Amino acid sequence: MDLSNKVAIVTGGASGIGRAISLSLAKHGANVVVNYNRSADKANALVTEIESFGGKAVAVQADVSQYQDAEKLMQTALDTFGTLNILVNNAGITDDALILRMSEQQFDNVINTNLKGVWNMTKVAAKTLLKSGYGRVINISSVSGVLGNAGQSNYSAAKAGVIGMTKAVAKEFAARGVTVNAVAPGFIESDMTDKLNDEQKQAWQAMIPLKRFGKKEEIAEVVTFLASELGAYITGHTLEVDGGLVM
Ligand code: NAP
Repeated sequence: MDLSNKVAIVTGGASGIGRAISLSLAKHGANVVVNYNRSADKANALVTEIESFGGKAVAVQADVSQYQDAEKLMQTALDTFGTLNILVNNAGITDDALILRMSEQQFDNVINTNLKGVWNMTKVAAKTLLKSGYGRVINISSVSGVLGNAGQSNYSAAKAGVIGMTKAVAKEFAARGVTVNAVAPGFIESDMTDKLNDEQKQAWQAMIPLKRFGKKEEIAEVVTFLASELGAYITGHTLEVDGGLVM
């Protein structure tokens, strides 16, 4: 999987799964625009790490829920590396509550980051991706968007929306050979799943056929595959990487 001379943006690319994705793309030769919202130190440390093995990366602050920030992020990618080939829409938040207790603000915040953020970035990247001669969009959804999850009416709606948007944009971009896919992680060892208590962790692990949570690298490698030439004939697909949970 050679991504030399390819330019990638990874939203929320400085920590968690996004960090593993940024590293994997860089190790395969891509120039990486590491987007962060609040984690400036982590983003700068990651750029240094990528440069230490001869890769190229730049850290860019942008809140993907804000259209003007998305435009700024895209412009910085163009100013720094001249084009864009791979857009990984990874940035995401949770703000869980049963719908009886969930505020309108909690709903709007999660939709604005997890769904509108994906639209904002795809919109600002579209022209360049379609013209660049090699284009990939990979949206990080979730099994929560496939199965629905109690306490996550905001998050499940956003992640299901991402799957629908992936299919719509895949049809729009297909004529130019630009593929658009979603990856739906199950439970991955991360800050997000660290919020679960031991009882919740054991209950979920019992339901996962492979009986364990996934590793961030197991998501990153699938994203890298979809970003590479090997993924050229896959589009509009949602790939569950979940130890068999959705089956
Ligand atoms: P995480 O550790 O909480 O990281 C979330 C990332 O998103 C951070 O880098 C954060 O950046 C960024 N972010 C949040 N709001 C943002 C905004 N408005 N603009 C730009 N960046 C923003 O989460 P994670 O576990 O790595 O999750 C990554 C993705 O995988 C998310 O889309 C999540 O929904 C999805 N997912 C995760 C799991 C899991 O088990 N962990 C399962 C299914 C799906 P800053 O730190 O700079 O704010």
